Amino acid sequence: MTRSAMQARSEGASVAPTTQRRLIVTLDGPAGAGKSTVAKLLAARLGYLYLDTGALYRAVAWKVREAGVNPSDAAAVAGVLPTTKVALEYRPDRPLVSVDGRDVTEEIRQPEISRLASLVAAIPAVREWLLPVQRQIGSAGGIVADGRDLGTRIFPQAQAKFFLDADVATRAARRHHDLAEVGQASRLEETRQEIEIRDRQDRTRELAPLVPAPDAVLVDSSALTVQQVVDRLSDVIATKL
Ligand code: C5P
Repeated sequence: MTRSAMQARSEGASVAPTTQRRLIVTLDGPAGAGKSTVAKLLAARLGYLYLDTGALYRAVAWKVREAGVNPSDAAAVAGVLPTTKVALEYRPDRPLVSVDGRDVTEEIRQPEISRLASLVAAIPAVREWLLPVQRQIGSAGGIVADGRDLGTRIFPQAQAKFFLDADVATRAARRHHDLAEVGQASRLEETRQEIEIRDRQDRTRELAPLVPAPDAVLVDSSALTVQQVVDRLSDVIATKL
């Protein structure tokens, strides 16, 4: 996966200002907090690469489903990894995600894959497998990475860390809207329940739970527009460049 990802990295790098430090920027937080929207806009503004780490967990979940493996069986899931190839290819709007050469970019956004991703993400072998992949893409800087453990575990040395949150009703409404935009009808109440279950799993798992890094800037986006969030984060980042 790393070769195409590295290629993505250098494409992102080509538009960056050369006189400024190329930072590692991390955005962690629960589902529907607006991380990916904000991360994409920030990356474009800075000329950095956007790394969607959730897509990696979703890709593994897709493979687990395809292989007919029980997502709660840690040993069986670990057994699938050595024969799995996940690739992220940079595109300005949304990265192209492929598993074993098959384009799964759209399929991995299905609610069922969200649920499976949260289950496989609790398995230590999966997190270990994805750790070097993420570090190799981001360690040199010039990256905005979003997920659950970027500031705490993947890039503890990141110069700008954020934890983006919002109340559950706002997050459910946003997720519901996002799904509608990609043509997936969902019921608001079901979406709300799904993100509550996923958040509970993500916050309470033993390895790399969803918690703010001690040095993360906390931003509650419930009452803020996307632009207001991007501006707030940009102000913090500007002090680090
Ligand atoms: O961010 P997204 O909703 O695409 O993530 C899907 C799932 O992948 C999350 O619910 C979480 O369980 C897992 N994940 C994770 N660590 C990350 C990114 C995602 O555990 N850094």
